[in-house]
Amino acid sequence: MSTDLKMLAEEANERLADATPVEVLAWARETFGDELVVTASMADGALPHLAAEAAPGVDVLFLDTGYHFAETIGTRDAVAATLPINLINATPKQTVAEQDAEYGKDLFARDPDKCCALRKVEPLNRVLSGYKAWVTGVRREEAPTRANTPIVEYDAKRDMVKLNPIAPWTQEDLDAYITDNGVLVNLLQYDGYPSIGCQPCTKQVAPGEDPRSGRWAGSGKVECGLHT
Ligand code: SF4
Repeated sequence: MSTDLKMLAEEANERLADATPVEVLAWARETFGDELVVTASMADGALPHLAAEAAPGVDVLFLDTGYHFAETIGTRDAVAATLPINLINATPKQTVAEQDAEYGKDLFARDPDKCCALRKVEPLNRVLSGYKAWVTGVRREEAPTRANTPIVEYDAKRDMVKLNPIAPWTQEDLDAYITDNGVLVNLLQYDGYPSIGCQPCTKQVAPGEDPRSGRWAGSGKVECGLHT
């Protein structure tokens, strides 16, 4: 464990408690320079947009699982083409076909934890090993598992600082930022997918339903393992 990073995160979390997301990201850029990476699921381009304002040229990581909707890949490409960011497209060690050959077809349906470990967590950890700090778009209201998300925390598992600059944002805050800034939005959001993951594990939800209830619906799984 790095005591310095832990103390840095704790001190920053207190000092930035009321800071705007851009202020948090600007602090991160100033503190970590090029050893800062922003993750983006491409459900919308809000976090890359904020990061581009605070830290032009910043690395933005997309986990290209091989199972994404075409709309998500299109959002990724449009965000990368229109914002001053450096997109890093991380892929799993195995293609879907290679994974099928080793573990059998549709591992996601039989063992989603294993599938997420192979296609999301391993690539994330591999890329993050080259940085000192990473940024997520986790918001507290998204799920009970996220309710206590701090703005800045020490990620002991990876010995890094983890920043969650939009943790306090409500859906209304996010929508307002998107509207006010002309931020790109994944078209699936307009088709009953308020939370977007891999195609086989994301279902449409009805208006008024829990936005994340379409993720791994019926399996009991609620997180992919990136934040737990
Ligand atoms: Fe596999 Fe589904 Fe996890 Fe994507 S969300 S990595 S398809 S289990």
